[in-house]
Amino acid sequence: MPDDASSSDQVDTRGLCELTLTELVQWCEAHGQKRFRAKQIWHWLYHKRATSIDEMIDLPSRFRETVASEFQLFRSKIVEHKVASDRTEKLLLELSDGSTVECVLMRETKRRTLCISTQVGCAMGCVFCASGMLGLKRNLSTGEILEQVLQLDRLIEADRRITNVVVMGIGEPLQNLKALLPALDALTEEDGMGLGARRITVSTVGLPKRIRELADYGKQFNLAVSLHAPNDKLRDELVPVNDKIGIDEILNAADYFFETTGRRVTYEYVLLGAKNDDAQHAHQLAAHLKTRNAHVNLIPMNDVEQLPFHAPSLPRTEQFLSILEAAGVPATVRKRKGADIDAACGQLRLNNELTMQPK
Ligand code: SAH
Repeated sequence: MPDDASSSDQVDTRGLCELTLTELVQWCEAHGQKRFRAKQIWHWLYHKRATSIDEMIDLPSRFRETVASEFQLFRSKIVEHKVASDRTEKLLLELSDGSTVECVLMRETKRRTLCISTQVGCAMGCVFCASGMLGLKRNLSTGEILEQVLQLDRLIEADRRITNVVVMGIGEPLQNLKALLPALDALTEEDGMGLGARRITVSTVGLPKRIRELADYGKQFNLAVSLHAPNDKLRDELVPVNDKIGIDEILNAADYFFETTGRRVTYEYVLLGAKNDDAQHAHQLAAHLKTRNAHVNLIPMNDVEQLPFHAPSLPRTEQFLSILEAAGVPATVRKRKGADIDAACGQLRLNNELTMQPK
């Protein structure tokens, strides 16, 4: 067995989550170990919630040292950990280049849902969203996406498991499919987190080519499309990337997703008081969706200190909801979680970055 310990200071240690299971098997074999060692390591990562490589006591001790000399269990560090009164927990993670991303654990009686980020910042520029206010810095790697899941997993009670993952944190997931898909594979693989693809939802601003690519990937992920407006004039204003795309093309791609995967598409609609919450907007939205197998998730705007938008009143929200329902479009209003800990996407990172920035 090669002794790698001596060269450890020359190696820029990687995150263990950066490797697919196949790559880890190859790495084990290249270090004179049997393939099953890779599965043992994954078991510690995804099932036994190891917090250090030293804990992996069923690996031979010299091999464990070799692993530790080339890899870190987690490269990200928790720099803030907030717990809301409803027990929603939010982590601000610092990555190896000093960038920060956030991820959230939401608890319900029978569910533990994680919300994870895919980019540092965002290039989409939606006018009501905190994530894009500082632009896009970079894509996350596969390991950086998975570490969010595993760091949050270690906050969950010993006898409970993650039930759902929503890719609705900072960034546009479909702009980073190259890193996201291997991460989702690790979550769905039996030797990984073992989650059903149907338990995973990918939320997108609506990039038609990428929606088709996700459909063709062949797994039954759920798709959520952030529509936010029922006509292109308003959508161009609220979601600036729309001016090169248009609602029709997005709806066509979402139809393709449904036909290919059999999964009903969810349309997200952030309700902004006096902007997109008129009865007329609800009727227009219903006209697009009543012939489709769709579900609408109405999200009352989460206030962002730096932005001028606010949720509509409750009666206006209910009016919007009942117009959709009367037209036969299934719709729900999203419950707020973690309201007292800056839980709207990107707010914790934004506030952290703004305090760090020299004025
Ligand atoms: N880029 C992806 C995923 C990240 S945002 C997307 O656009 O879907 C996840 C959801 O939260 C989107 O629907 C987004 O529009 C919404 N959102 C962003 N800022 C919000 C805010 N301040 N209040 C309520 N929802 C918000």
